[in-house]
Amino acid sequence: MKHNIKELEQRVLAALADEAHQEHPLHDVLEALWEYNQDQWSRMEHLIRVSDSYQDMMIQKKKTLSERFDKHLRQLDKITRISDRYQTALREANIELEQASYIDALTGLPNRRKMLRRLKAEFDMRPESVRLAMIDIDYFKRINDEFGHLIGDDVLVSVGNLIELTVGDSGHISRWGGEEFLVIFSQVEHAEVESCLKQLTKVIREAYFEAGDHTKIRTTVSIGVSHYQIGDSADSLITRADDALYRAKDSGRDKVVFS
Ligand code: GH3
Ligand code: MG
Ligand code: MG
Repeated sequence: MKHNIKELEQRVLAALADEAHQEHPLHDVLEALWEYNQDQWSRMEHLIRVSDSYQDMMIQKKKTLSERFDKHLRQLDKITRISDRYQTALREANIELEQASYIDALTGLPNRRKMLRRLKAEFDMRPESVRLAMIDIDYFKRINDEFGHLIGDDVLVSVGNLIELTVGDSGHISRWGGEEFLVIFSQVEHAEVESCLKQLTKVIREAYFEAGDHTKIRTTVSIGVSHYQIGDSADSLITRADDALYRAKDSGRDKVVFS
C-alpha cells in the first residue's frame, strides 16, 4: 500500500496530540518513532544540501578548468602563429643575407666569393673549357685623385656595366676587388673570347664618364687571359690570368694578353 507521506505525518501528529490517546501504551513508542523520523529527515536534508553544494562546486570547478584550458589553447595557438611568422621572416632574412653575401654592394655584380664558387663548380665539371679574364682599370688611382672617390665609384660602376653589356651571355662577370673584374668563360672558343675582349677594350677606350661639372673622364682597361692547361687548379688559373694582366700593364696597358 502506498502512503502519502504528508498525509501520514498529519495523521501521526493528530494522533499524538489527541488527548484521548495520551495514556495509550503505544503513545510513547509512536512519539519516539516520530522524533527519530524527524531527526532522520533533518539528517537527510543536511546530506542533500552538502551533496548539492558539492555538485555546484564541481560544476564550477569544471567550468573554470575548461575556461582555463580554452584560454591556454588560444594562447598556444597565438604563440604558434607568431612563431610560424617569425620563422618565415627568419628564413626570408636568411635567404636575403645569403644572396647579399654574394653581391658586391657598389656595382651590384656577383662578388669574389660568388665567383670563386662558380669557378670551382665549372672546374669540377669541365676544367678544360675554362678561360679566365682578369680586367683592371688603368691608372684608376689618378681618377680618384683628380675627381674624388665618389666620382671614382661612379666610374667603377659604369665600367662594370660596360663589361657586362659587352660580355653578355658569353661569360660570367664579377667584381673581383678594387678596380678589378673577373670574367669566367666556359665552353667559349679562343677566337670568340679574343674578339669579345678586344671589343671590350675598344668600348671602354671610346666611352667617357661624366664628372658632376660635365667634365668628361676617359679611361682604359688592361686584360690578362688564361686558359686551362693540364695540371692547372682554379688557383693557378687565376695566377696565370694575373700574370698575363701584369704583362699587359707592363707592355703599355689598354690591351689583352693571353697566357
Ligand atoms: P694600374 O694601371 O697599374 O692598375 O694603376 P691603378 O692606379 O689603377 O692601380 P693602383 O693599384 O695603384 O690603384 C687602384 C686604386 O683603386 C686605388 C684604390 O683607392 C682604388 N679603389 C679600389 N677600390 C675602390 C672603390 O671601391 N672605389 C674607388 N673610388 N676607388 C677604389
Ligand atoms: Mg688599375
Ligand atoms: Mg688593380
